[in-house]
Amino acid sequence: MNDFFSSSFTLGILGGGQLGKMLLTETRKYDIQTKVLDPSPEAPCRIGSNHFEVGDLKDEARVLEFAKGVDVLTIEIEHVSTEALRKLKAQGVQVHPDPEALAIIQDKGAQKSFYKDHNIATSPFELFKNRDEVMAALASDRWNLPCVWKSRTGGYDGFGVSVLRTEEDLQNIGEGISLLEEMVPFAMELAVVVARNPKGEVASYPIVEMEFHPTANQVEYVLAPARIDAFGGKTGEQIAAEAKELAERTATKLGICGLLAVELFLTPEGELLVNEVAPRPHNSGHWTIEGAYTSQFEQHLRGIMDLPLGSTQLKAPSVMVNLVGAEGHSGPVRYDKMEETLAMPGVYPHIYGKKETRPFRKMGHVTVVSDKLDEARQLAEEVKGNLSVISH
Ligand code: ADP
Repeated sequence: MNDFFSSSFTLGILGGGQLGKMLLTETRKYDIQTKVLDPSPEAPCRIGSNHFEVGDLKDEARVLEFAKGVDVLTIEIEHVSTEALRKLKAQGVQVHPDPEALAIIQDKGAQKSFYKDHNIATSPFELFKNRDEVMAALASDRWNLPCVWKSRTGGYDGFGVSVLRTEEDLQNIGEGISLLEEMVPFAMELAVVVARNPKGEVASYPIVEMEFHPTANQVEYVLAPARIDAFGGKTGEQIAAEAKELAERTATKLGICGLLAVELFLTPEGELLVNEVAPRPHNSGHWTIEGAYTSQFEQHLRGIMDLPLGSTQLKAPSVMVNLVGAEGHSGPVRYDKMEETLAMPGVYPHIYGKKETRPFRKMGHVTVVSDKLDEARQLAEEVKGNLSVISH
């Protein structure tokens, strides 16, 4: 069935944040009907969707009610009721990503075990039922500082993750199920966005480099393509090819349809380790809107609707900078120095439509395209220094 366009076909999207909003731009391009569910009446997708409903994404009954009349159901956030998705799939609704893959990804412990069981390289780890077990492991010879503690469920954007360097950091360890991971002394953090459709066709975007904010544990810049030097006797090209193979194998093993963003660590020895994955459009793929022949959002639609995948080729070197709420500002948002930013060549701001800013809240992003990656990186830093997200 490919009666998607200008028809009664309806795509359901669980989550109405910025990823959903950018996905809706593409559904509008193809004239595909949409229905979105989000807990907030102020969610970015309240405009742009054909039908917008307010409700709890973790509430099985609510999700089942929402999905009535939906032909294909997808997500833009992982924290949704997988039980509802399983039932909908059993009723014949096309659900992408597959509920079983999503269940694995929702739980960082299950995700790590999946990598281990499928020979997908990842850092050594141990799972724990509660805080006492973590503390006992840290008091034993098995674990030493520094290492990384992660909550198995519920974390996002660096929340629920704590690098344990000193005794003081141990107070960040939460009560619930969690894991410890060996600290990876990585040289770079990389990501590959892979697309796959139900026919099993796979296409991945050029590997990107993620630069993190020094304290907020959040991605600040994404550089496409990544500037990978030779490491551990491998050339940059070899490392990029290995990353592509690893990411595509991970997407295939998980049986993903639509997008899978694969975050990787590159060690100084040239080894690649999977950190974590997200089965949806991802921050590390925002640059594709201006910088690639097919945006990741269009590609996600193509993947979940079993359409031919688009070209993932880079059009121009691109740098994406996240616009997050300035420290010390909470309340109704204002974007300071927007006009100066728009006057810069090759600079494209995206505003997500959140009414309230908070320190480090993702409010938008800016993509800078240029003939040369270094120039784009330089301009992105100027944008970051100029444009600020403040409150009135
Ligand atoms: P989130 O789901 O919040 O994005 P991640 O698991 O990606 O959490 O961790 C956030 C960041 O913490 C990573 O991008 C990386 O900078 C750091 N980090 C996570 N795990 C490790 C590790 N094992 N070794 C070193 N740094 C890590």
